[in-house]
Amino acid sequence: MIKKFARKFLEAKKCVFCGKYGLYKLKDKRVKCRHCRRAYSISKLRKEMEVMHLFSLEISARKASKVLGLSYGSVYDRFMSYRAAIVKRCEEDFEKLSGELELDESYFGGKRRGNRGRGAFNKQAVFGVLARGGKAYIVPVPDVKQETLMEEVRGRTYKGSVFYTDCFKSYAGIRFYGKHRKVNKEYTFAKGKNHINGVESLWAFVKERMYKFHGVKIYNYYPYLKEMEFRFNNRNSNLFKKVFNIR
Ligand SMILES: [Zn+2]
Repeated sequence: MIKKFARKFLEAKKCVFCGKYGLYKLKDKRVKCRHCRRAYSISKLRKEMEVMHLFSLEISARKASKVLGLSYGSVYDRFMSYRAAIVKRCEEDFEKLSGELELDESYFGGKRRGNRGRGAFNKQAVFGVLARGGKAYIVPVPDVKQETLMEEVRGRTYKGSVFYTDCFKSYAGIRFYGKHRKVNKEYTFAKGKNHINGVESLWAFVKERMYKFHGVKIYNYYPYLKEMEFRFNNRNSNLFKKVFNIR
């Protein structure tokens, strides 16, 4: 089950912390690194990697705990620690987006039927930016007022970019920040570049996955959404390796 990538650590050849060769065995069966002097247990590391592998495969903590025969609480705690590491990585590595950008806001969660879309009750507003041919940025926002969204736009994108949005009034101020291309959703066929299909497929990607975690608490939206941003931006990479390297 453990990927080939992980084997070199489990076979005690390479140090899991510094990546160098030079491990020796201690009396308590742990291994210690000659270079960074850190010691750890191979069997604990194996368990950890199995948990991480299921996380990278988008298996829920509930299901992973059953598969691995571990308590739900301990698996959930590990999953949340990976999310915390992902949040840190997303924040530290963030670079302002530029070029052709698609902007949109969406609503997540909420049990009430009807009353969909903007202003919906008991739902979390989320703002997203997708750079065409580049990366995505997703963030939960307290509301979708112009000043709230513009603050995100100024903080996360370069002035002078090309901004594609729908006709929502909160985007009216964008024309002072860059080129504003308004997309009328009712006439999106054959409009060439004038669409926001990219950010809409980002929402589909995120919602499909968030749906599996039904019952994500509002206060947990930030780490979950950053996880989705990370998954989306690394969708063509080996996610296990990515998570392993940032944990
Ligand atoms: Zn080391």
